[in-house]
Amino acid sequence: MRETRSTCPYCGVGCGVIIESSGDEITGVRGDPDHPANFGRLCTKGSTLHLTASATVTRQTRLLQPMQRLVRAEAPMAVAWDTALDNAAGKFAQVIRDHGPDAVGFYVSGQLLTEDYYVFNKLAKGLVGTNNVDTNSRLCMSSAVAGYKQTLGADAPPACYDDLKHADCLFIVGSNTAWAHPILFRRIEDAKAANPALKIIVADPRRTDTVEIADLFLPIQPGTDVMLFNGMLHLMLWEGWIDAKYIAAHTSGFDALKAIVRECTPDKVAQVCGISKDDLLAAARLFATSPATLSLYCQGLNQSSSGTAKNAALINLHLATAQIGRPGAGPFSLTGQPNAMGGREVGGLANLLSAHRDLANPDHRAEVAALWGVPSVPEKPGKTAVEMFQAAADGEIRALWIACTNPAQSMPDQATVRRALERAEFVVVQEAFATTATCAFADLLLPATTWGEKEGTVTNSERRISRVRPAVAAPGEARNDWSIAVAFAHRLERQLGRASTLFPYETAESVWNEHRESTRGRDLDITGLSYAMLETAGPQQWPLKEGESTGRVRLYEDGVFPTPDGRARFVDTVYKPVAEAREARYPFSLNTGRLRDQWHGMSRTGTAGRLFGHVPEPVVQMNAQDMARRQIGEGDLVHLTSKRGSIMLPARASAEIGLSQAFVAMHWGEEYLSGCSSTGVRLAGINALTTPAYCPTSKQPELKHTPVKILKAELPWSLLAMAWLPADAALAAHRALQPLMALFPFATCVPFAGNTQGQERSGILFRAAAHDAPDEALVEKIEALLGLQTADTLRYADRRRGQRRSARLVRRADGSAGLEAFLLGGDTSAEAWIATLLREELPAQSYGRLLLSPGSKAPVAVQSRGKTVCTCFNVADVAIQTELGRCSGTADERLAKLQGALKCGTNCGSCIPELKRMVRATPAEAEAVTP
Ligand code: SF4
Repeated sequence: MRETRSTCPYCGVGCGVIIESSGDEITGVRGDPDHPANFGRLCTKGSTLHLTASATVTRQTRLLQPMQRLVRAEAPMAVAWDTALDNAAGKFAQVIRDHGPDAVGFYVSGQLLTEDYYVFNKLAKGLVGTNNVDTNSRLCMSSAVAGYKQTLGADAPPACYDDLKHADCLFIVGSNTAWAHPILFRRIEDAKAANPALKIIVADPRRTDTVEIADLFLPIQPGTDVMLFNGMLHLMLWEGWIDAKYIAAHTSGFDALKAIVRECTPDKVAQVCGISKDDLLAAARLFATSPATLSLYCQGLNQSSSGTAKNAALINLHLATAQIGRPGAGPFSLTGQPNAMGGREVGGLANLLSAHRDLANPDHRAEVAALWGVPSVPEKPGKTAVEMFQAAADGEIRALWIACTNPAQSMPDQATVRRALERAEFVVVQEAFATTATCAFADLLLPATTWGEKEGTVTNSERRISRVRPAVAAPGEARNDWSIAVAFAHRLERQLGRASTLFPYETAESVWNEHRESTRGRDLDITGLSYAMLETAGPQQWPLKEGESTGRVRLYEDGVFPTPDGRARFVDTVYKPVAEAREARYPFSLNTGRLRDQWHGMSRTGTAGRLFGHVPEPVVQMNAQDMARRQIGEGDLVHLTSKRGSIMLPARASAEIGLSQAFVAMHWGEEYLSGCSSTGVRLAGINALTTPAYCPTSKQPELKHTPVKILKAELPWSLLAMAWLPADAALAAHRALQPLMALFPFATCVPFAGNTQGQERSGILFRAAAHDAPDEALVEKIEALLGLQTADTLRYADRRRGQRRSARLVRRADGSAGLEAFLLGGDTSAEAWIATLLREELPAQSYGRLLLSPGSKAPVAVQSRGKTVCTCFNVADVAIQTELGRCSGTADERLAKLQGALKCGTNCGSCIPELKRMVRATPAEAEAVTP
């Protein structure tokens, strides 16, 4: 047994982990008690990392050798590394020679390590001579980058996690911190417990779990943040709450901004944002007059056609009230991905250069060219994410290199993205997982290492650099991302006739040392840092200059900013509505965002059935009144249609969602949610709908708002099949079932897990709907993949009525017969009780005939345990509600009693906001009785 310190590969909190391994197998994970981001805590995602890295998962999901497709429609064939890289270099060199360097593009990822990012950036800008290198961080943080640079002069979050405990007011806006940054939310809960006077304001169109902790909730209309911030500044000016001395001494541009916010009267703000004037005043007062106000914000501000303005308008508030540069005060952008910061540091975006330099600045270009030893760095701005795929769709970019990201799931406007991937002459996908939608478009697949195998560094939201260390050897022929890029670069150099190499790296550390040198004299100067120091002194914040022993905790404490005159700049932020407004044909605002227990396209979290306990299947959440008005019942299938596409989903009423709004989790790509249109076109998950409209400054697309119409779908024939499968076959079955989804108008296929018999089990659920019963051969295929084509399978079929049932019972160790797999075709109204029999592994021998009878009613004995709330201890909502009925006292006392009885929320704590909501909603039985 070995222990290796590393970091969690999911969100930007950047928690430290200790990986337990034995030989080449990762066997466990726990929080690193010495890591300053989390002090030993992990959320549901982090604490289940080992489940996603087992040898069983690796065998079924990982790309383990280079694969090449000579014909696009055919399955890829294994190829040697040398052949693969030679072919790639030959093809890229040919495109560069024939069409120029801007005919190639590199699309990389905020999940790459800093070293990986550095090499890709140098490869594109230094060797190929194009700035066409962009990243999925464009979809995540580019508005935060632009907002910081416009106002404070550098892309540097000035605050730190410790500021939470010094703050008197927290302004959380556009961030469901409870789900997206759970360990940070634990620290917010700690801060509130330690200082009950701490005031928390949450502004969000959705009433998320984060709102549970709020003293003031502002349910603003989608996209109206700039109006809210300008309205708050209007009131601050009116009430005399600004800090005129700070403004005069440390800023510029305030007078021009004053003229703009003058128009943002409380009446106007209340009307545009949909909040009360009293709440607006309360928010402005708390923000401005609290001794220290810290803002926390994320995609709600960034993923917007006004993303930069939203960021800048919020920072305007901090500058106007001097809520910056002090403990507990400052605008703190939370990074979505684990190393979005590292990517920004090396300039791995189409408009940036190494060490926060600007491509548009000739001096910066000359500095980078000198550092790299190349004559020049190209001047022409590169294509950003949306532009890059549009250019490929238009035939302008002919060769694409995609690393560690899944644009066929995550990019908006999937029709264009898929056209781009089909039209490009040569697509390289460098990936750890063979299961992503993008892999299907690759001419060449290169196997990369991933969490637990990689070596390098990452930077989290508070500018803290941590080491990422390998616990096990790379599986199969997988290689580290940086070394793949270097091996390709060496071959490309030969093809392009370069005499000496720009990539002399033998180790990740040698790459990092060059990056470190590039930061000398810059705002993020880390010339005092080394791998050795990270080894001995642990994670460090930047800047950390040569001769210094620790990094800077917070920035701008002296009121001097990295601008030419040392002053921060107010930005004239004029409110602009969302890019595509709701209209009569598309009357709903569709919002997308994260689930608590899933990460991005689910290539990793989707391998752990346990993580589907909290939200088992894709749904669209709607306001109950909207559903009633359209006669949409709970669970009814609806068409969601935007100007770009249409998908189908079951509808769920949610108290989180405002009128005329809808929410679908961002994770559901065609790997889990599919179907085909009436013309046979395969549907491409949630981003078939989203808009490519982007912020003109940051070029970040507006993933947070798409107008849609929602109409009830009429698909009378439905199918539900579920099966327990051996752990080493379940994920392979999921992959085999995926292409079948596209043969139904609506289909979803997801893993699930159970452990009611004391042993963790893996299962797969397949759900579909159609106008008529499909070919029997198709249903038989589904049955075969779910173990329902065996001699002991019980069957019923009525072809004329389109009804079909199959069920397989097995004898368990305790002698009872359990339901191992079933399929209901035609009438699925018995789903609730039959699925419960299977999921909860209840004795099923007495239900034999009922299992095969269409429309059979639920026997009283079969009661579902409900939805999983606490993933760590597998506690579901029915048990929680029952226990809460017995618990009396204050809300805190009842929560403590509940936790004492069921242990829910006592490990990672990710479910605590939901438990608090349930405490509020479920009275104790004694209290519920009316006299
Ligand atoms: Fe990972 Fe959760 Fe920590 Fe984010 S909060 S880094 S997902 S453990």
